[in-house]
Amino acid sequence: MSKTKLLWLTSISCNGNAHSFLNYPQLEIFLDNFEFIYHPILESNYTLEDIIHKDLKCDILLIEGSISSEYKKYNEPIINIINKYASIVKKIVTVGTCATFGGIFRQSGYAYTTGLHFDQENPTFLFSNLKDKTISISGCPIQPEALANILFSIKNNINISLDKFNRPNEYFAYTVHNGCTRNEYFEYKVDNHLFGKKEGCMFYDHGCQAPFTNGSCNKILWNEVNSKTRNGEPCHGCVNPDFPTINFFQTKKNMGIPQNLPIGVGKRAYLTLAGVTKAFKIKRLEEDLF
Ligand code: SF4
Ligand code: SF4
Repeated sequence: MSKTKLLWLTSISCNGNAHSFLNYPQLEIFLDNFEFIYHPILESNYTLEDIIHKDLKCDILLIEGSISSEYKKYNEPIINIINKYASIVKKIVTVGTCATFGGIFRQSGYAYTTGLHFDQENPTFLFSNLKDKTISISGCPIQPEALANILFSIKNNINISLDKFNRPNEYFAYTVHNGCTRNEYFEYKVDNHLFGKKEGCMFYDHGCQAPFTNGSCNKILWNEVNSKTRNGEPCHGCVNPDFPTINFFQTKKNMGIPQNLPIGVGKRAYLTLAGVTKAFKIKRLEEDLF
């Protein structure tokens, strides 16, 4: 079976996604099936200058990093390089929140730094000509399994169901809260949390954004071992269009009620539930177990 040709193009980026991908546990099997014509870290057949100056065959274009019309590689605007390969590939994958929504490099100083579809209030495709070809995997960084599995699906012509940001539903249809080992503390509103401790939910006081963040961190554990929230650090919503927000470790509140409620829960329903759960005092959940 011939290998699928990938181009990993880095725009304004810290390379965090390229590094995260190196943690993919089945990387050897992956490389038996795919070949990078260019990758910023892994060995590849061509240099970046070859990519820019030659017309090379490529099946899937991976874009990492935010995009600005001012940003260039060897004097060539990144937008020209994207457009050149976008026109010949079967699919484009935006790898990470920067390439998808603009991410942290919106503050890079380059004019109009963005993702392939970024508008903070109303995310919409800026490169609308590329929309039908694009699959987005947001994350800062991405989970390597999500990227590898999507690339295998593209290779095998498997239909990929997408959400409104062109992200695969397989990884983004549910919240990061789903699967966290602290759900019992969430249910009974126990946030007696100290970072790194095994007890307490971090939604009420410590800024956990997982109940309103769509992602798979508690479904696919990082390094097959753990997740941030299981380990005692709040989710910062790194997959979201408005990432990064501020005050990561504080829950924004209005009159004692969290400003952002779990997806699908209205204020009135939240207040009713909160009233009921407050009536319970479950000693077991208030105890320091370790
Ligand atoms: S710590 Fe975060 S992810 Fe875990 S149960 Fe609480 S809100 Fe959900
Ligand atoms: S837990 Fe939240 S902030 Fe951390 S990687 Fe997952 S989505 Fe991003």
